[in-house]
Amino acid sequence: MRKNIVAGNWKMNKDYGQALTLINEIKEGKPASNAEIVLATPFPFLAKAVELVEGTDIQIAAQNMHQAEGGAFTGEISASMLTSIGVHTVILGHSERRAYFHETDALLANKVDTALKHDMTVIFCFGEELKDRQSNNHFNVVEYQLRDGLFHLKNEDWKHIVLAYEPVWAIGTDETASPEQAQEMHAFIRNLIQKVYGTDVAENVSILYGGSVKPDNAKEIFSKPDVDGGLIGGAALNATDFFGIISGI
Ligand code: PGA
Repeated sequence: MRKNIVAGNWKMNKDYGQALTLINEIKEGKPASNAEIVLATPFPFLAKAVELVEGTDIQIAAQNMHQAEGGAFTGEISASMLTSIGVHTVILGHSERRAYFHETDALLANKVDTALKHDMTVIFCFGEELKDRQSNNHFNVVEYQLRDGLFHLKNEDWKHIVLAYEPVWAIGTDETASPEQAQEMHAFIRNLIQKVYGTDVAENVSILYGGSVKPDNAKEIFSKPDVDGGLIGGAALNATDFFGIISGI
């Protein structure tokens, strides 16, 4: 059966001391839950984060990585750098990477391949913009993001893929997709995967919702049958809010 997952995407927040404090708070105070907890900290804190969560069931993830194995790519981070410090999960395709760093579906397909070559788990983000939803084009946009980014994969690759549907209009905006809108899209996604890969892959892939998930709306969103947890930005930056969200699963 597929996993429930609550992942915190810290983005470009916290300094080293603050990051260690938050990791320790989460480690010590985390409510009991059937969800896997993932913390995607900024790059400079990853090695220490791995050390701090050793022996717990918390996973540490990177927020991005480069598609090349190594070489002359000033400022970039490779898959083997991550795995060599014990990071085996990476977020790819976040809408901020797509929008501000011009990451295309084709580039993301390459990044996914590199991550899988290194036996990493990919949290693959995608989602429509406001204009797509207003023009009733949101299902098409999501379908093409999935086709171009992931549908070259083989059935067995899907055990390393977690999907994160994040409507761009709901990220960091205080506007959340309604639980019904989230469920409608998640069911569409699962159905699409079922058509392309069959029931086994479709039923086993976790589909997270992301976009202004907060302690007061998490429970209702997570209660939907095709929502298997969340990718949390702003509310993952303090332990109390993050715990409130974990308790909602
Ligand atoms: P948010 O961010 O929870 O602050 O809306 C979610 C995300 O970008 O993953």
